[in-house]
Amino acid sequence: MSNADQRHIVVIGAGISGLAAAWRLHDRWPDAAITVLEGQPEVGGKLRGGQIAGVQVDLGAESLLARRPEALALIREVGLAEHIVHPNKVSASIYSRGEMHQLPPRTLMGVPSDPATLKGLLNDSELQRVEQEAEHLQTDPRGDDISIGDFVSQRLGRAVVDRLIEPLLGGVYAGHADNISTSAALPPLAVAYRDGESVLAVAARAMPSLQATDQPVPPVFAGLTGGINTLALRLTEKLTEAGVEVQRNVTAREMSQRADGRFEITTGPVPDPSTLIADDVVVAVPPPAAARLLGRVAPEAAFHLGAIEMASMAIVTLAFPAEALAGVPSSGFLVPPAEGLRIKAATYSVHKWEWVAAAGHGRGDDGSDVAIMRVSLGRHREVGALQRSDAEIVEMALIDLQRVRGEALPEPIDAVVTRWGGGLPQYAVGHLERIKTVRASIALVPGLAICGAVMEGVGIPACIASATRAVSELPASPVRMEP
Ligand SMILES: Cc1cc2nc3c(=O)[nH]c(=O)nc-3n(C[C@H](O)[C@H](O)[C@H](O)COP(=O)(O)OP(=O)(O)OC[C@H]3O[C@@H](n4cnc5c(N)ncnc54)[C@H](O)[C@@H]3O)c2cc1C
Repeated sequence: MSNADQRHIVVIGAGISGLAAAWRLHDRWPDAAITVLEGQPEVGGKLRGGQIAGVQVDLGAESLLARRPEALALIREVGLAEHIVHPNKVSASIYSRGEMHQLPPRTLMGVPSDPATLKGLLNDSELQRVEQEAEHLQTDPRGDDISIGDFVSQRLGRAVVDRLIEPLLGGVYAGHADNISTSAALPPLAVAYRDGESVLAVAARAMPSLQATDQPVPPVFAGLTGGINTLALRLTEKLTEAGVEVQRNVTAREMSQRADGRFEITTGPVPDPSTLIADDVVVAVPPPAAARLLGRVAPEAAFHLGAIEMASMAIVTLAFPAEALAGVPSSGFLVPPAEGLRIKAATYSVHKWEWVAAAGHGRGDDGSDVAIMRVSLGRHREVGALQRSDAEIVEMALIDLQRVRGEALPEPIDAVVTRWGGGLPQYAVGHLERIKTVRASIALVPGLAICGAVMEGVGIPACIASATRAVSELPASPVRMEP
């Protein structure tokens, strides 16, 4: 319960960014009243779990980068350390020109460090073009931003973009290489653009050393038994235990600032609105919603957030009798847009995660084992496929899977389509400048902070980092203005 002198902080949005912000807020100000508003019935945002054939799995994000510390640190803080797992060491592939190729090792989001690793995926003349980078070392000393597609095409040839970078970027941003900013998405490459350094060399430097050591190379990715979504659930549990109020089904519709500096947040249906008064607000919602909320309080930030495009996608989770996927020694495959298929990636969750395989044991009607996999569809500005019914989307996924695998899969035991409309912000050319302006506009309003997938990267660790930063940017004590 808050009293008149107690600092009241409202977090809008209970995705991983908002929940992490609430966690850090409670840590910094244990005596403050903290309220988290979530418009949906469930917390977690893109960290969402659900059942398929009686097995609980992730229907949104399903792994996290373990080479950054933020997510693993938060997982440990909320007591989930013993649930940390790493993907099985099985290879991933790229389906290109009608054939499956091993995903080239040691690339920086598809930017190769060694042309030899591209043999097979690229033809001889394309490979030769990669090897000729030294003849194409144009620079831009002004350091203007450029799309990853344009830059890598210029240095290594278009095939590297079409066959390798597009499918990898399609996985992370659901975007197109020709739109995505080099400086925002691959900062080390932006330096190569400015200084004329070889991108092959930059990618090689970014890779962990191949020198033989006694130390095993630490895993790149991590997950949680039961799914990444359990991080959001556990955080919410811990926050509630700590006295933080997490309100579900409460959409923040409007926000304004009173003469005394406090914020008024309007929630509830238009005919019956409710108002919350807050000393501080952390906005942790996707850019379109943030733009609507900030229009009166930080108009310049609202304008720039409103201009950020979002990509929509769908995840089709499929359950099969275990033997249907038994012969696939792979964690999955990527499909470049140039192939003209509707699916852009498939993950054999049953092979990638030990816990998914175990969870499927005995789940068939007759007590047999069930194998789970997932397929993703949809890229930025390509929503056609997603406007179909669930049954049609499942059908499309199965047709494309048959084409890639070269054989039909049996009828799935169960299928779940999860639509992620506006799921991923696009880090377009100029993104960093735009975000700088957003930050400057927010900084003019004491007590206001922003975090989320649009700020420092779309991955879970980057979202958590943005939440930690947002909390650190709030004033040590509430700023009250003389009315
Ligand atoms: C399908 C998919 C798969 C992904 N896979 C991975 C992965 O494997 N690994 C990885 O690192 N990243 C992955 N990502 C990216 C990552 O999951 C997201 O970038 C991240 O979870 C975003 O978190 P967030 O809290 O910033 O936003 P969100 O998760 O979008 O949370 C925002 C929350 O705010 C709520 N909200 C919105 N408007 C309002 C309002 N007005 N009032 C109240 N509440 C509101 C929403 O309901 C939502 O719960 C994936 C993304 C998608 C879409």
